[in-house]
Amino acid sequence: MQRALDDAKVPLSWMPEQWQQVMVDLGQPRYRGQQGFEWIWQHAVDDYDQILVWPKTLRQLMQQRYPFQRLRSETVQEAADTTTKILFRLADQQRVETVVLPHAYGTSICVSSQVGCNLGCTFCASGLLGRTRNLNAGEILDQVVMASRLMPASMPPISRVDLMGIGEPLDNYQEVVRFIRLIHQPQGLNLGYRHITLSTSGLVPAIYRLADEDLPVTLAVSLHAPNNALRSRLMPINRAYPLEKLMPAARHYSEQTGRRVTFEYAMLRDVNDSLETARELADLLAGWSCHVNLIPWNPVPEEPFQPSPMMRVRSFRDIVQQNAISCTIRKELGQEIDAACGQLRHREEADHRSEGIRQFAPGISENGEPG
Ligand code: SF4
Repeated sequence: MQRALDDAKVPLSWMPEQWQQVMVDLGQPRYRGQQGFEWIWQHAVDDYDQILVWPKTLRQLMQQRYPFQRLRSETVQEAADTTTKILFRLADQQRVETVVLPHAYGTSICVSSQVGCNLGCTFCASGLLGRTRNLNAGEILDQVVMASRLMPASMPPISRVDLMGIGEPLDNYQEVVRFIRLIHQPQGLNLGYRHITLSTSGLVPAIYRLADEDLPVTLAVSLHAPNNALRSRLMPINRAYPLEKLMPAARHYSEQTGRRVTFEYAMLRDVNDSLETARELADLLAGWSCHVNLIPWNPVPEEPFQPSPMMRVRSFRDIVQQNAISCTIRKELGQEIDAACGQLRHREEADHRSEGIRQFAPGISENGEPG
């Protein structure tokens, strides 16, 4: 019941059937709901008054009963390579950020799913103050629509979405799954599931649940260490879901969906970047059809970690590859504009020492794959 009430208040989170039901409840033809959904997502109207195919009385009625507000951009930064970072302000004045990235294959976007995060990874300041709230599905989707308006006109349309910004997507399971279904709607943005990557720190029960949703999105697991002692030190979630639980869950996801799982590995100098650790990682992943994405660390003053030297990163990659595991180094984009998710927000809120640093920049792998 609570779910239904919440939905009723958030038109941007409505599925097409809900739009149609609202119209029926208002004594309107069902197709008006279809029109509403299309004009919100394909025409990106700012209010009901811009839905020109609706009669004026309906526009006024909807405005009275179901007002909505699109995300507002507070700051937009564009790098020389056209990587664009946007700080959005939500209706309740919370802020999240979104990054649009140029690739050889087109344009991708990295969206946030929560304001802050409760998981407390030691390399990520998002966990310092914890999660303020979850984003609803409409707020996640609106990042894509509003960023499309704000990104440089020279960029091709967004063709990939990475749930890799601030927050743990699987800690906001219902809204994230709803977002994935919403963005896939043919009457909306019509994005294929295979063009979506969901990055998780390893919430094992939610990985199993997601595998059963019939949503074949790519799963990216933030691994960062090949053994429990080191991983628990970096990621407290590993104490609840150690590698003996996480790896079978990731394998199950891969088998169930037919999608190759990506393991993300931030390269932290003298922490997880030894060649012995590379061999341990190769042993852990032996026999898998998976991909390892090595992420050059993007240092920030508040954190104790340093980036691994690039020569070390390459040697690490070589060892993993020699063990027949696909492994690439992420190419960083938009370095000069705080492109790592959360850095812009963090800088803007530095006076309050707010949460919100996702330390690694979204980017592309050496082979051009989204990273
Ligand atoms: S890395 Fe991800 S899961 Fe970990 S604290 Fe940061 S946002 Fe949360």
